[in-house]
Amino acid sequence: MTTPTTSIAHRTPKAHASPQPYRYPPERAFVEPDWRRLPGYKDVTGGEWNSAKWQRQHTVKTLDQLLRVYQDLIPQDLVDSIKRDQAERATMSMLVPPQMLNTMNEHDLWVDPIRRYMIPAFGDRHPEWASHPLAERDSLHEADMWAVEGLTHRYPTKVLAELLSTCPQYCGHCTRMDLVGNSVPQVLKYRFESKQRDRYAAILDYLRRTPSVRDVVVSGGDVANLPINHLVEFVSALMDIDNIRDIRLATKGLMGLPQHFLQDDVLRGLESLATKAVDRDVDLAVHVHVNHAQSITPLVAKVVKKLHAMGFRDVRNQGVLMRGVNDSQNALLDLCFALLDNAKIMPYYFYMCDMIPNSEHWRLAVHEAQQLQHSIMGYMPGFATPRIVCDVPFVGKRWVHQVDAYDRTKGISYWTKNYRTGIEFDDPDALTRGHEYYDPIYTLPEEGQDYWRKRAVEPATA
Ligand code: SF4
Repeated sequence: MTTPTTSIAHRTPKAHASPQPYRYPPERAFVEPDWRRLPGYKDVTGGEWNSAKWQRQHTVKTLDQLLRVYQDLIPQDLVDSIKRDQAERATMSMLVPPQMLNTMNEHDLWVDPIRRYMIPAFGDRHPEWASHPLAERDSLHEADMWAVEGLTHRYPTKVLAELLSTCPQYCGHCTRMDLVGNSVPQVLKYRFESKQRDRYAAILDYLRRTPSVRDVVVSGGDVANLPINHLVEFVSALMDIDNIRDIRLATKGLMGLPQHFLQDDVLRGLESLATKAVDRDVDLAVHVHVNHAQSITPLVAKVVKKLHAMGFRDVRNQGVLMRGVNDSQNALLDLCFALLDNAKIMPYYFYMCDMIPNSEHWRLAVHEAQQLQHSIMGYMPGFATPRIVCDVPFVGKRWVHQVDAYDRTKGISYWTKNYRTGIEFDDPDALTRGHEYYDPIYTLPEEGQDYWRKRAVEPATA
């Protein structure tokens, strides 16, 4: 038996703020960059800049228009490289609102992270492996899992409704490059076959007769391109379905064209939806797609503040992890703190860039994503620490540490799932079958690269 101590030793507090691999607070100033510094916008007034109509009318669609904005600030070799990319590699057409051009660093457009994913250049891409041999348009097979045209039923309780196929901006890495945007030399886009009204009616009808679905992602494209009365009509009808408890409106436009959301009719429409959601006890949220801290400006924060005041449950970010854009601890944490501190947007997910054609230079290997996930842990509150996820074809989102097996030489990771997708209802092996995901080949050791060189030319015998 031990003798109880009669006194407790003095404790001298000694912890203090230590130097850290990432230093908080970030140094970036939270200001709207002055557009008048750009030659093409030097005479643009505040009234014009804040007008959604002006932004849409002046959205850059061609290289000539891009040149008129930056003039001498864009190097000729970059211009030539973008032109070649549009002819030989790009899967999306150019569409960049002034708001986004204004957040690029005009003094170094080659390395600017926003330029790198919005306006890809031929010189950005890997010379040998521009594309993975197993890359596919619709790489997530969303259309294979349509319950009705435009409604992907992949998970047990949630669905994705693709309401339209356009956006206010087109991202070079768009995972829906199969469907979204204009056809380009490399890609003839799929076009919805049924009329919009019929498609929406079929989607609503499916959800009415499928009580196991409780959660609808209303996406596209981008809902910022849907006339507000159409959006209100569809989402309001969703809220009338008893089983629908969560609705998330997906829009990158909140960041790319915040002016859209500050228009009176749009605000009125969104407010009517928020009010109905509160009345009906439905959680209505907005999901945005921001990939770099430069994109978070006071105008973006102003929209989010209004959404919260209306009663939207949350505004969450689903970014995409991309090499040369945000593939470092600093870039990810700067973005997360800009989202959280400046705009009150919840950092929610970072997706690994999907295996669409010509996306290799943006993609990271699974082990790189795991390392990045490790590097951002502990800096933010747990509820605001984003998960880095791999969207595995025919599986769905998996946290990058959930990999079942991993051949680092060939860069093949193996994944399983714990539910059936909407097309596996009669598949006895659905819950045990392994599904593969592939690292970018140029990240592999020479032996792995050789394996893929052989497999690329002999796919049938691999
Ligand atoms: S906003 Fe979304 S859907 Fe539109 S081009 Fe970008 S990634 Fe694709």
